[in-house]
Amino acid sequence: MKIAVLRENVEGERRVAATPETVRKLGALGASVAVEAGAGEAAGFADAAYADAGATIGDAVATVAGAEAVLGVQGPNPAALGGAAPGAWLVAALDPVGRRDRVDAYAAARVEALAMEWMPRITRAQSMDILSSQSNLAGYKAVLDAAAEYGRAFPMMMTAAGTISAARVFVMGVGVAGLQAIATARRLGAQVSATDVRSATREQIQSLGAKPIFVEGVAGIEGEGTGGYAGETSDAYRQAQAELVSAHIAKQDVVITTALIPGRPAPRLVSDAQLATMRAGSVVVDLAVEQGGNVEGATPGEVVTRHGVRIVGHRNVPSRLAADASALFSRNLLNFLTAFWDKDAGRPVLPEGDEIAEAIRLTRGGQVVSQRLLS
Ligand code: NAD
Repeated sequence: MKIAVLRENVEGERRVAATPETVRKLGALGASVAVEAGAGEAAGFADAAYADAGATIGDAVATVAGAEAVLGVQGPNPAALGGAAPGAWLVAALDPVGRRDRVDAYAAARVEALAMEWMPRITRAQSMDILSSQSNLAGYKAVLDAAAEYGRAFPMMMTAAGTISAARVFVMGVGVAGLQAIATARRLGAQVSATDVRSATREQIQSLGAKPIFVEGVAGIEGEGTGGYAGETSDAYRQAQAELVSAHIAKQDVVITTALIPGRPAPRLVSDAQLATMRAGSVVVDLAVEQGGNVEGATPGEVVTRHGVRIVGHRNVPSRLAADASALFSRNLLNFLTAFWDKDAGRPVLPEGDEIAEAIRLTRGGQVVSQRLLS
């Protein structure tokens, strides 16, 4: 089986879908791997390292020619897949809802498109979960981005010239990214507090040595929510949350927001009026900026200043740690291919009715088949 690894073509995307390490392991499974020249360059992986790992290096057309699987970080241009074998797998983060037009084009190109971000959150699929691996790094990087913008130190320092007090960091949304943000801010010596709508996060916040800030008396989301995700909260909850945040945020130096609701725009958690109560020089990092933003005024791809507060809205934060993000992303894809590898067929096979297959398969036999997209 031939597996193709394409060079990403979206602006600002520095990650790559296979590293020399995963190329070697794909080779050990029995696959031959073709890598487009320069595919790993922005992430620090040279063509020569892929060649050493057993890959052939070529241009885009030669790379895709006859491939039975094409690996990407983001979805490639459907026109680039013309030379792939009929029914070839496309394995990448495909943004199925946002790029529905492209899903139709993948179907027309007779590609079986597999959206890795729709991997179900079940134990067996944890090692294939690109959302977790990338969010974890984004949560870490958000804190470093905040520290870089902040004109003060994070830890308390007692010096001969006087004492510097610890930064107060507030993390809003305690999923994978939020938990890593809490841990990173704590390691830097900040005083950390955090909030979420899912009551199950309270203990997780405490176990990381941070202070939980929770709406009391109005029900949020008990337990874990569907698949561990949050849903929309009630109007009464949102009102109570806004009041709680207003009281808390005025005393914070750094706010990191990570709140997402699958399939919906990100919830608005911080208003312009709330920003105005923060001390000048404070920093807000909005990790949800590309999904509509948790913070009023946050702008994708920019750092803006409102009321003296720096609002950081970097796009594609995992790509800012391209080497590690690629290493983890590539392993997620490798784990997926390995889990379904059929030795006799010499290729991966998705069993009929498999929960993972049903969740991630968007197209098959020239049709869009994903229930999630069709319903
Ligand atoms: P996410 O990226 O969808 O959302 C980030 C956080 O924002 C979530 O914790 C969510 O509850 C929170 N949020 C949503 N609306 C909010 C609001 N109005 N105010 C405050 N916070 C709000 O979440 P995620 O990082 O993907 O993780 C979601 C859950 O899934 C976590 O419990 C995680 O541990 C779990 N998970 C399970 C697996 C598995 O395989 N079993 C894998 C990864 C994650």
